Amino acid sequence: PVDRLPVIQEARLKLPVLAEEQVIMEAVKENDCVVLCGETGSGKTTQVPQFLYEAGYASAGGMIGVTEPRRVAAVSMSHRVANEMNLSTGVVSYQIRYEGNVTKDTKIKFMTDGVLLKEIQKDFLLQKYSVIIIDEAHERSVYTDILIGLLSRIVPLRNKKGLPMKLLVMSATLRVEDFTENKRLFRTPPPVIKVLAISTILSALLFLEFQFQSISEGCTEQVEARQFPVTVHFNKRTPMEDYTAEAFRKTCKIHRMLPPGGILVFLTGQAEVHSVCRRLRKAFPYRLNNMEHTETEDTSEELRKFKKQKQKKSVSLPRIDLDNYSALPVDEGDEDRQAGIDDDDDECSDLDLGDQPEDTEEKADPSIPLYVLPLYSLLAPEQQAKVFRPSPPGARLCVVATNVAETSLTIPGIKYVVDCGRVKKRFYDRVTGVSSFKVTWTSQASANQRAGRAGRTEAGHCYRLYSSAVFSDFSQFSEAEITRRPVDDLVLQMKDLNIEKVVNFPFPTPPSSEALMSAEQLLISLGALEEPPRQGRMVDMERARLSCPITPLGRAMAAFPVSPRYAKMLALGRQQGCMPYIITIVAAMTVREIFEELDRPVSSEEESSKLAGRKARFSQMRRLWAGQGQSLLLGDLMVLLGAVGACEFAGCTPKFCEENGLRYKAMLEIRRLRGQLTNAVNAVCSDASVCVDNKMAPPTESQVLCLRQIVLAGLGDHLARRVQAEELLDLKWKNGYKTPLLDEPVFIHPSSALHKELPEFVIYQEIMETTKMYMRGVCAVQPD
Ligand code: ADP
Ligand code: MG
Repeated sequence: PVDRLPVIQEARLKLPVLAEEQVIMEAVKENDCVVLCGETGSGKTTQVPQFLYEAGYASAGGMIGVTEPRRVAAVSMSHRVANEMNLSTGVVSYQIRYEGNVTKDTKIKFMTDGVLLKEIQKDFLLQKYSVIIIDEAHERSVYTDILIGLLSRIVPLRNKKGLPMKLLVMSATLRVEDFTENKRLFRTPPPVIKVLAISTILSALLFLEFQFQSISEGCTEQVEARQFPVTVHFNKRTPMEDYTAEAFRKTCKIHRMLPPGGILVFLTGQAEVHSVCRRLRKAFPYRLNNMEHTETEDTSEELRKFKKQKQKKSVSLPRIDLDNYSALPVDEGDEDRQAGIDDDDDECSDLDLGDQPEDTEEKADPSIPLYVLPLYSLLAPEQQAKVFRPSPPGARLCVVATNVAETSLTIPGIKYVVDCGRVKKRFYDRVTGVSSFKVTWTSQASANQRAGRAGRTEAGHCYRLYSSAVFSDFSQFSEAEITRRPVDDLVLQMKDLNIEKVVNFPFPTPPSSEALMSAEQLLISLGALEEPPRQGRMVDMERARLSCPITPLGRAMAAFPVSPRYAKMLALGRQQGCMPYIITIVAAMTVREIFEELDRPVSSEEESSKLAGRKARFSQMRRLWAGQGQSLLLGDLMVLLGAVGACEFAGCTPKFCEENGLRYKAMLEIRRLRGQLTNAVNAVCSDASVCVDNKMAPPTESQVLCLRQIVLAGLGDHLARRVQAEELLDLKWKNGYKTPLLDEPVFIHPSSALHKELPEFVIYQEIMETTKMYMRGVCAVQPD
């Protein structure tokens, strides 16, 4: 029996899924696998685990497991459900990559999908669980897809063993055919339950009516399937460049002219979110306890929190239970990943003001205060939780968010949505592996999800900062992630699960055979898979290449929660006492963007000279960390090693980071990852006995040589050779490097330690296309 507070009970009764409790529970009882569709905010994530709990699914010893593609959702939903059920977080708990509060009493466990995948590697039958809920399946994250494929096999196995388990797949959109009409996945299609609200049916009818009208510029349109109707307003024109300025203007207009109701603004990344937050706070300041709520608030609060954390943890690194990590560093938070590339420094917060003539016209107007909150994946949980709390009296709520607000979190009281129509994604070139972050148009399905955020509590409005013609050119749905990125990590994990013929795996959407082939090729070259036979007919060889069994080295590599190239380096790290260094380098390469980026527009002489001073200091530090002689040849990897070493030596303080151009958050993440990798290494080779040393001495010359060889073993195919003088036909090749896969030259970035050295042969971590094709993480090699 669950003892809920009356106010909670009342709020629950308003949720559409509650009306379907019986239908859902019947279906779960009668079927092994059930698909549940319901619009965002209908109560799937918070209520369905409670239904299962109340029906006794957690009382026979097994837990109710819920997977989320985003850490944000796993943490905040576990808190919400514990709160609604009046149970402690020791009973309704969460587990994400580095942390969790799971106890032996846990009955409902929220986790990221990567965590569950790792658990499958330990116990294929998942005997701890009686039900698994795969939430946000419409997001089609790689792990979600793989988990559904695996669970489609695990559930029948459990039944055979007389230990029945249920699978529930929940989606915010009705597009579930990839799961239900996929005979390889489920031989009998699972039943699909659709949660619809009554007003939804009304607005669906309205929608039909609107379909007959031709859609002209600047018109409005009704969106179907919302609890309350949402009127969509398209822009006449589509700003191609400065959509953040447009988002700012539109928000100001709404705030000045329209009746009360929260505003939710969708942008693409952390930097944009902060910049728009700042402008809005400037335009409509509001005072809290006589203290101005300014843009620095988040930062100082963050810092305070970090300091507190640090005090607690400065003695030793947290010991991380090996059960507790996700298989791989997930791409989650990609929207924030580029932070280092385009993030502006909070300190110089006003730089972006005044670059738009319109903005200078916005005079601060404290008579109509706006309560502005940012929301994005990597924001600290306490900051994220603010959006659920009531906004201060007299102030309108305005949340400036990335994609996280699209389906994972429902913010109460939103009446207006401002949608820039774009999303930031990482793109990979399938052949060359070159990656780049690009802001692209989102899909129609996503845009409609965003619009729907406005109709939760009453009829709402969505302002699209693009024309209806542009909208009609959007693709209908977003592609499954698995078709968009390299799959070497997944293939290795699957081989470790003894799935030899990865091509035969029941993917909801299979990755291309090229992607599978190149993953398998890479893993063979790293020694993680056995070499296929070299003789025989072409077709047989092709087939054999796609079903190579895993080697003992491959198993060891699969145990490390990093991508296969880095896992290989860890596997070789024991030579000459290099392990602590390799662990540090791998952690730093995995975390990305550890340096603060200072390239941004400045508005005054003073700013510009201050910035120049910081830049000079930072590059001086980087030169210092790069060292000389042998060390310098380790290039950017030596800089990483030096930076982490110096930072840890100084106690990893925000002050040290600030003064030396390091991102504090990144340094903390590296610290956690070092702890985790150290534990993993000790677990894999019991006699390795490495520990994390905060006062790590720099590597000796012979160790540096060894480190370069180890790095080469992992990144051997990322080799580039300096263009020879006689080949310099074209000026564009000046200082360029040639790689086997690209016709164009690639370059060493000016911020690299080897920018001036220009060694003949280098290996690189990756190629990122920004203004040019730049190699990142460059290290000199002497290939034999
Ligand atoms: P779904 O999973 O179908 O999108 P949820 O179960 O996440 O829906 O949300 C149901 C309702 O619970 C929403 O109206 C949302 O506003 C509310 N809710 C969720 N989390 C919180 C929270 N932390 N505080 C207050 N309300 C919340
Ligand atoms: Mg949900």
